[in-house]
Amino acid sequence: AIDFKWIRDNKDVIAANIMNRNSNANLNVVLDLYEKFLNLQKEVERLRAERNIVAEKMRGKIEASVRQALVQEGKNLKEKLASLEEDLVHLTDQLQQEAQCIPNITHPNVPIGGEESSVIRKMVGSPREFTFNIKDHLELGKELDLFDFDAAAEVSGSKFYYLKNEAVLLEMALINWAIAEVSKQGFKPLITPEIVRSSVVEKCGFQPRGQNTQIGVRTLHEAIQPGAFAISEKSPRPAEPKSNITDTSMLSFMVYSIENSDHCLIGTAEIPVGGIHMDSILLEADLPLKYVAYSHCFRTEAGAAGTASRGLYRVHQFSKVEMFIFCRPEDSNLYHEELIAIEEELFSSLGLHFKTLDMATGDLGAPAYRKFDVEAWMPGLGRFGEISSASNCTDYQSRRLGIRFRPSDASTILKKGKSGNQTPTQFVHTLNATACAIPRMIVCLLENFQEEDGSVVIPEPLRPYMGGLSVISPK
Ligand code: AMP
Repeated sequence: AIDFKWIRDNKDVIAANIMNRNSNANLNVVLDLYEKFLNLQKEVERLRAERNIVAEKMRGKIEASVRQALVQEGKNLKEKLASLEEDLVHLTDQLQQEAQCIPNITHPNVPIGGEESSVIRKMVGSPREFTFNIKDHLELGKELDLFDFDAAAEVSGSKFYYLKNEAVLLEMALINWAIAEVSKQGFKPLITPEIVRSSVVEKCGFQPRGQNTQIGVRTLHEAIQPGAFAISEKSPRPAEPKSNITDTSMLSFMVYSIENSDHCLIGTAEIPVGGIHMDSILLEADLPLKYVAYSHCFRTEAGAAGTASRGLYRVHQFSKVEMFIFCRPEDSNLYHEELIAIEEELFSSLGLHFKTLDMATGDLGAPAYRKFDVEAWMPGLGRFGEISSASNCTDYQSRRLGIRFRPSDASTILKKGKSGNQTPTQFVHTLNATACAIPRMIVCLLENFQEEDGSVVIPEPLRPYMGGLSVISPK
């Protein structure tokens, strides 16, 4: 339910927004297709009315010759209508495809510009001062026997990994801790499907086939052979960016699509959680609906290279605990603040040094109205690295997913079309935010809490989830 009339009536605002967001959406093509769509729709309606008049005329008592002429006229109209209706379906498809690339509108406080224009909202802690030579997470992991990248490279390819020994306990602890902490705030725990229909990926504002993606987003999609699950390249690899890719230069990510099917592996739990109420009418009394979802995430990360992408920092498969909220439009800015506050509380309680950023227009993915990122200090990298992001997607996803709410006191979720209540419905707003993206959190914890003897101290809140383990020591 993209509002084309609104797009047409606000074309100057939308054109400026497309420019500010560095999007390659083509507004003129959309407007042109919409005009053609309206004309064709009018013509189809005119012909349908004409066909009905002819049918009506044939009901009465009429001479055989007149009937003969009417039959012929009806036949001609039917043929013409069938052809125009086919054109209309095709044109509607084209219009939807093009319009899907138009990004969400932008919160008025979002700084305009690229990565360098993002504004720091908050800084927590300071970098730890080490009195010894520090190691990065790869050296620590090797000495503590926590990872195996070599075997993973043989078995799966580069940017895959085995976690071993205490790293396994740490991953499980981070997941359980994040779910427990976020659940305390009234979020319902979920484990999601990790293979979803491409159409759901699209409706969440991602482009599973890579067409018309924003500038800077790689259009490669890799295919997974059904059965064998071997990764192969399906489309020619586009020229890859030369410079190191940092998170903030990534506008989106590409997902793996499964060959000979209309399914994809999820890049984030945002997609299946967003889809959980697809084509539904929720009741106002049930809002907000808050979920905390655990899933694996799969990303092609084509072209990602350089020291920032080494080891666990940027991988093809990782675990993540994600928060997601469905709410009333008037509440979404408030819940956006709540989500970032939860993230800040989680990362503070682990003792991390981090900053929270209001991301600039050029760094927002298409669905986001506003995005707050958290970047934590990573001593091994010698810089901050993104560990989470929280986006308010307003009605961008709910329009595409068909998620509305109806003011009501009842407390059940009604499937589309089954409601007797005629109060007008509205689209809900959706928000998503990372509670804990595991591999980067492991990087942070190992590098920040290492000791001179090569051991790593486990932050207090995680210990109960690791059988009381407080230190990972060299064997
Ligand atoms: P996003 O859904 O793109 O906002 O990513 C959420 C979080 O997941 C990021 O802040 C990172 O901590 C983490 N992340 C994203 N991509 C990767 C990757 N390829 N490998 C490891 N962690 C990632």
